[in-house]
Amino acid sequence: MYTCNLERMEDKIKTFSKFGDAGHGGITRYSLSPEAHQARAEFVKRMTAIGAVIETDDMANMYATLPGSVPNLKRIVMASHVDSVKNGGNYDGILGVLTAMEVLETITELNIPHSHPITAMIWTNEEGSLYSPAMMSSGVICGKFDKSKMLASKSILDPASTFGQALDASPYKGEEKNRLNPNDYMAMFETHIEQGPILEAAKKDIGVVTCVLGMVNYRIKAYGQADHAGTTPMSYRQDALYAAAQLLIYLHQELDKLDPALVYTTGEIKCHPNVHTVIPDEVDFSLDARHENPEVIKQVVDIIKNIPKEISKCKTGYELAWARDTVYFDKELVSCVKESADELGISNQYINSGAGHDAQFVSYMLPTTMIFVPSKDGHSHCEPEYTSPEQCTAGASVMLNAVLKADQK
Ligand SMILES: [Zn+2]
Repeated sequence: MYTCNLERMEDKIKTFSKFGDAGHGGITRYSLSPEAHQARAEFVKRMTAIGAVIETDDMANMYATLPGSVPNLKRIVMASHVDSVKNGGNYDGILGVLTAMEVLETITELNIPHSHPITAMIWTNEEGSLYSPAMMSSGVICGKFDKSKMLASKSILDPASTFGQALDASPYKGEEKNRLNPNDYMAMFETHIEQGPILEAAKKDIGVVTCVLGMVNYRIKAYGQADHAGTTPMSYRQDALYAAAQLLIYLHQELDKLDPALVYTTGEIKCHPNVHTVIPDEVDFSLDARHENPEVIKQVVDIIKNIPKEISKCKTGYELAWARDTVYFDKELVSCVKESADELGISNQYINSGAGHDAQFVSYMLPTTMIFVPSKDGHSHCEPEYTSPEQCTAGASVMLNAVLKADQK
């Protein structure tokens, strides 16, 4: 068994935390921004220093590859993202890239033999926080998203500029022939922070990820009548916002009767006309529900389909926005991760991912799996995000040995 280097890992975390430092312990590093390019330049510098070959593809995904000892074998890739949400932390995404770099650095330093080429990779625009949607370039490369539509995606900060323009201006835009593909790659690993409290609560340093949860996302609607806020007696009103509030409480009460592992969220609400002197006539809110078991998701859908047709004198409705099935990771790779953690004596448990990751799209194309490390207090997508250098290094060591096990198969 091999272990990665704590000091080197810590140095990378500190160095990359400067790129997009927002001044209070976290970063804002939008995809293809100057800050993200600084991070990419540092990746090139460090990977070139160990003799890795750098390539980029047409979505500006970056690849740093160490050759294997046997010619013409497929590559094993370790990948994640360097972009963040606005006022995000120093670990989401970037840790997967830093651990991938650490694995290659350890292989070089210790002269570890391996047959297959091994690649550290950066995915462009995973967060989709400047240019929507999330997981944009893994979606394009895995055939889930149409590239021309993605190129037209507008910046949330400046609707006159598009993702395509940012891509054209990036020094890291390369050729389509360099894309990750099933002919040249045999497996992908992604190390990521858990982004939840489970591992910390269980005092485990590694999460052996088995799947990404299936989910449904509905729009729930209430239709009322717009009227004057001052002249309409309460008994005359058809207030769509009040009806929507009743509907939300109804949904919580019903959904709470299902399996306790179900998670569901209303995170977005649209109120029309959204004027403080007008009774709302149309309200539309999101309902996102996630669970591993498709039967439970079906129960959620049944509850949504059976909401009261009228509530507080307002008609109701619903519409499916989108859905995805549970994505199971490759069993052999999952066992490579489990065995590596066990053999290294690192505490671990099986876990699923409630969040989406590039690995979930890649799993439609290649055998894929993920490794989680704990998130302090479960925080992520915010500045207090934290994983100790020891836990980050443990994640790298588990990935190193799991990659070497995959290399032997
Ligand atoms: Zn991420």
